[in-house]
Amino acid sequence: MKQIDVLYSAEQIAARVKEIAKVINEEHGKKAELVVVGVLKGSFMFMSDLVRHLTMPVRCDFLRVASYHHDVNTGNVRMEFDLTQPVVDQDVLLVEDIVDTGNTLRFLLEHLHSKKPRSLSVASLLYKDVGKARDLVNYVGFTVPDKYVIGYGLDSEGLYRSLPYVGIFKK
Ligand code: 5GP
Repeated sequence: MKQIDVLYSAEQIAARVKEIAKVINEEHGKKAELVVVGVLKGSFMFMSDLVRHLTMPVRCDFLRVASYHHDVNTGNVRMEFDLTQPVVDQDVLLVEDIVDTGNTLRFLLEHLHSKKPRSLSVASLLYKDVGKARDLVNYVGFTVPDKYVIGYGLDSEGLYRSLPYVGIFKK
C-alpha cells in the first residue's frame, strides 16, 4: 500500500453525510417514497451511510457504467448494468462518489430521464473544483482539489475502496 494523506477523516465524512441527509429529509418530506440509485462501485459506502439517515420510505437500486477516462467524449460512457425496477413517476436520487468532468453524470441523467421519473436529483460525496458540472449536482459533500482521490468507496486500480477516509497519495 502506498502512503496516503488524509483529506477528509471518517469523522468529518460522517458529520457531512448527516448534514446532507438532513437537507434531503427536509426537502423531500417524510411521506413520499424515494428511490435511491447508487452508481457502482464507487458510491457504495456513501450510499450505505446516507440512506441510514433518511427518514422517508426508501427503495435502493444500483447501476453501473464503464467510462474511459482518457477520452473526454460523453459518448464513451456505456451502461454495464441497469436498474432492476422501473422508476416511472417516482422520485429518484442518484448517488455518485465523485463528479469530475461531469461526463458520467450527464450520461446517467439522460439515461434516467428517459425512464420518466417524477423527479431526479443528484447527491455526490465529492466534486472536483475544476469541473464544469456543479449545476447538475443538488447535494455535494466536499469540493476537492484536482488530484486523484481514494478511499471511502473510491479506488485506485481496484484497491483502497475500504478505507474509512478520503485521501490522496503522498508524493
Ligand atoms: P467524470 O465523468 O465526472 O469525469 O468522472 C466520474 C468518474 O470518474 C467517477 O465516478 C469516478 O469513478 C472516476 N473518478 C474521477 N475522478 C476520480 C478521482 O479523483 N478518484 C477516483 N478514485 N475516481 C475518480
